[in-house]
Amino acid sequence: MRKKLIAANWKMFKTADETFAFMQTLLREVSGHNRDEIVVCPPFVDIPTAVQAARLSNVHIGAQNMFWEKEGAYTGETSAQMLLAAGCTHVIIGHSERRQYFGETDDTVNKKLIAALDAGLVPIVCIGEVSQERESGLTEDVLRRQCTGAFRTISGDRVAPIVVAYEPVWAIGTGKTATPAIAADAHRVIRTEAAKAFGPVAAENMRILYGGSVKPDNAKALMSQSEIDGALVGGASLDPKSFTAIVKY
Ligand code: PEP
Repeated sequence: MRKKLIAANWKMFKTADETFAFMQTLLREVSGHNRDEIVVCPPFVDIPTAVQAARLSNVHIGAQNMFWEKEGAYTGETSAQMLLAAGCTHVIIGHSERRQYFGETDDTVNKKLIAALDAGLVPIVCIGEVSQERESGLTEDVLRRQCTGAFRTISGDRVAPIVVAYEPVWAIGTGKTATPAIAADAHRVIRTEAAKAFGPVAAENMRILYGGSVKPDNAKALMSQSEIDGALVGGASLDPKSFTAIVKY
C-alpha cells in the first residue's frame, strides 16, 4: 500500500514571517493527520523558519530545486548536502518552470536525481507534456522520454525513495485540471517505464503524484484514483486552509 504524499510547492512566494504564520495555522489544522505524508516546499531562504516551526511535527520540509555538485564555485546554487543539513527531507527536481525558464533538461534532472539519492533526500521528479504535445498525440512519447532520461544509470536497489510527479504543463496554474482518467492513464505509462528501468516490484512501490491545478474541490476525485499516490500543489498551497482541505480530501 503506497502512502499518499501531499506536497506544497510555494514557488517564489512568501517571506520568512509569512512562512512562520502559515506553519502555525497548518500545524494546528493537520496535527495528528498521519494518513498522508505532508511536505511543504518553501523558497530557500524560508527553509530554516519552516524547519524550525515543523520540528517534532508530522510535516516535512522540502526544497524546490538543488544543484548536483556537493560544493564548489557555483554562484547561486545550493547542494543536496546543504539542504539536508538545513533540515530538508525532500526536494523537487525538474519542475516544468525550471525546464521552461532555467534551461533544465532530462540530463540535468538525471544528475540532480542521482545527487539527491546520494545525499539521502526524497526526490520528487516532475515530468509532463505541454499542451501542443498532448494535442499532437505525443503525451506518451514525452513521458517515456522524460522517465528514461531521469532514471538513466540508477540501479533498482536505489529507487525506493524516488517519487515522480506527473504535472501536465497545460494544467499548471491554469485552472485546467487533467480529468482523473487522463491522470491515471499517464500514471500507468510512468509506472510501466519505471518497471522497465527498475523491475516490477520497485515500480509497484513507486509513488506517482498528480500536479496541475489541484484544489480543495477536485482533490477527492483525483485522490480516489488508485493510480494517483498524492498531489503536488502550487497555487492552492499558499493558503493554509486550502492546503489543509486538500490534505484532508
Ligand atoms: C505546481 O507548481 O507544481 C503546480 C501544480 O501548480 P498549480 O497547482 O498552481 O497548478
